[in-house]
Amino acid sequence: MVAVPQPPSILTFEEARAAVERCAVAVSPREIEHVTLLSSAGWVLAREVIADRDFPPFRRAMRDGYAVRAADLEKLPVNLKVIGEIKAGATLEALPREVGPGQAVAIMTGAPAPNGADAVVMVEYTTSSGDVVTVNRGIARGDNIVPAGSEAKPGQTLLRRGMRLDYAAVGIAASVGLDSVAVYQRPEVAILSTGDEIVDISVQPGAHQIRNSNSYSLAAQVQAAGAIPKILAIARDERTHLRALMEEGLRSDLLLLSGGVSMGKYDLVEQVLGEFGAEFFFTGAQIQPGRPVVFGRARDRYFFGLPGNPISTMVTFELFARPMLEALAGMKSQPLRFLHARLKQEITTKTGLKRFLPGVLSGQLEGTEVELAGWQGSGDVAAMARSNCYVVIPPDREKIAAGEWVAVMVR
Ligand code: AMP
Ligand code: MG
Repeated sequence: MVAVPQPPSILTFEEARAAVERCAVAVSPREIEHVTLLSSAGWVLAREVIADRDFPPFRRAMRDGYAVRAADLEKLPVNLKVIGEIKAGATLEALPREVGPGQAVAIMTGAPAPNGADAVVMVEYTTSSGDVVTVNRGIARGDNIVPAGSEAKPGQTLLRRGMRLDYAAVGIAASVGLDSVAVYQRPEVAILSTGDEIVDISVQPGAHQIRNSNSYSLAAQVQAAGAIPKILAIARDERTHLRALMEEGLRSDLLLLSGGVSMGKYDLVEQVLGEFGAEFFFTGAQIQPGRPVVFGRARDRYFFGLPGNPISTMVTFELFARPMLEALAGMKSQPLRFLHARLKQEITTKTGLKRFLPGVLSGQLEGTEVELAGWQGSGDVAAMARSNCYVVIPPDREKIAAGEWVAVMVR
C-alpha cells in the first residue's frame, strides 16, 4: 500500500485562500542584494527608503505668476509694483529680501517663494505693463505655495520594506538620490507538468498528444510575480518518474505541479507527495475552474498541485500560488483586488462553487461593462485569449441579470 494523504479537505474559496495566507506570513525571503535604480522596477524593496531632506526643500511656487501678499488683493483690481523675477533654480540667497505691501515678484513654477509673499497669483489672472502688474482676482493666503517640508520631513519613511518597486517608487528613490536599492533575491520556483499525453513544445505532437502549455503559462505568471521559473522535465503518470522529478522540484523555493490531482486512476500527484511525508492543507476548493487544487508542504517546502486544464492552472495560480510566491519574494501580503462592472448579459450557473470565469471587460470610464468570454470549459484557451479578466460569481447565485454589478478580477 502507498502512503495516502490525510482525509481530503475541500475548503471554500475563502478558507483555502486564508490557509495560504496563514502559511505565507511565516515564510522568510531570501538574502538581500543590490540592484541599480534603473533596473529595480519589479524587485521587492529590502530596506526602507528615507527622506534625506525636506520635501519640498524650500517654499515652492506651484504656478507661473506673481508672488504677492494675499491681503493686498482684498479690493480688485489692484496694481502692484513688480520688484523682481525669480525663476526655478534661483539660489535662496539671490531672492529679494522681502516682498512688501503693494509689491509683487514675478515667479515661475518650481521657484522658491520670497519672504513676505504668502501666495502666488496665476499669470492668467493678471495683466502687466512695465513694472506694474494689475491683479484681477483674489487669492487666499498659502494658495499656490507648497510649504517647505509639508510633503515629508528628513528621516521620514517614504517607501516601506516589502513593497514591489513600481515606477512611482523608482521616482521616489531617485528623489532621495539613491542610484541603487537593496532588494530581496528572487525566489526560484520549480514547475513540474505531469501527464502521459503531454509533450514538449519542441516536439511535433502525435494525434493523441497535447503540447505542454502549462509550464510556459506558469513560467510567465511566476516571472510576473517577481520570481524565477525553473521548468523541469515533463513527468509521466508513473510513480518512480514523478518521485524523481518531485525530488528535484522540492529543492527550489516553491514547487508548482500541473495535472494529476483529479480523481482519475492515473492522477498520482497526491499519492507520490504523500510518500515524501507531505502535509496537506487542502486537497480541493469549492471553485470553478480549479476545484481539485492542492496545497501542502513537504521537505520544508511548500507546493501547489494545480489542476492540468490550462485555465484551471492559470486561475489557481493567481488565486492561491501567487500570495505564497509574493511572500517568498519578500512582499507584504497583498489582498486580491476586485473591480465592479455592470454585467452586459444575463449569467445562469449552478450554485455551490465560487466561479472565476474568463470575461471581457469593455467600454470606458463610467460605461465599463463585462460579459463572459463564452467558454467551452476549463480547457478552452481560445476563450481565455479573448478575455481580459475573470468575472467572479458567488456560490449562492443561480442567475445574475443583465445590468447587475458583478465583481471582476482584472488580468
Ligand atoms: P489533469 O489535471 O492531469 O487531469 O489534466 C486535465 C486536462 O488538462 C487534460 O485534458 C490534460 O491533457 C490537460 N493538461 C494537463 N497538463 C497540461 C499541460 N502541461 N499543458 C497543457 N494541457 C495540459
Ligand atoms: Mg493528467
